[in-house]
Amino acid sequence: MNQWSKLIKGSATVIADGAMGTMLQQAGLPAGTVPILWNVEQPLRVRAIQRAYLEAGARIMLTNTFNGSRYCLVKYRLQSRLDDLNRAGAAILKEEIQTFIDESKTDPGAIVIAGDIGPTGEILAPLGTLSYEDAVRAFAEQARALISGGADVIWIETMADLEEMRAAVEGTRQAAMDIPIIATMTFDTRGRTMMGVKPENAAQTLTGWGVAAFGGNCGNGPDELLAVIKKMQAAHPGGVLVAKSNAGMPEIVSGATVYRATPEMMAGSAVQLRDAGARIIGGCCGTTPAHIAAMAKAVK
Ligand SMILES: [Zn+2]
Repeated sequence: MNQWSKLIKGSATVIADGAMGTMLQQAGLPAGTVPILWNVEQPLRVRAIQRAYLEAGARIMLTNTFNGSRYCLVKYRLQSRLDDLNRAGAAILKEEIQTFIDESKTDPGAIVIAGDIGPTGEILAPLGTLSYEDAVRAFAEQARALISGGADVIWIETMADLEEMRAAVEGTRQAAMDIPIIATMTFDTRGRTMMGVKPENAAQTLTGWGVAAFGGNCGNGPDELLAVIKKMQAAHPGGVLVAKSNAGMPEIVSGATVYRATPEMMAGSAVQLRDAGARIIGGCCGTTPAHIAAMAKAVK
């Protein structure tokens, strides 16, 4: 049995980690530096954040590779290092998990490495210029690097377009036919994604593609995501639902984005999300290890 099946069969509610991007900014990531670069240049800082999430109770851990596709890296002229940066992202997380398991005597089967894939940042044709085939190729390339670094599953996140999601699922399967896929979209536009996808349609479509788990991440806070989870649960009862919300509605304060939901507020929301059917619960932008610890405690 693979890591994923063990984890999902072993616990009613599984805690995923919280934000990486906003934590890296707090750890001194300079503006204009793409976070994935720190997998190679500042691996100890990335690992320290991951360690704090492990100690908070997270058992699905995402690699720091959100911007790791060719179309993101080309903006930083890092496309020639794609394989290296993604592989390092999985490898440093694997090392940190092993250290944590050894030191805390945690069951080695209880933690899953999720290779994180975000959107390309491009719009697919015919609306945009990126062809479906090129998108598939780009996702396959990133997935291959993540899997060679040690990813147990691939987590495709923050998607707005089902067609781009389909390209990511297909690309991941080209890299490894049987690897479990977790697929989450961002429903931040009046209950739909920016591209107009409704939660119930996402649930039906993603289930049809045979993904291992699906749901929502990022967006305007846990209340918005709770409504999404309820619709997905109604549309497809029995699916493994995922909720990874931002720490509240993002607010712009003197040019910076701030998230105001406290650990206590997110803990209350985690209970509501669980009761609505979410099996995998974590955090997105603005959440910290303190948020994840409070959420883990509340749903226990
Ligand atoms: Zn987010």
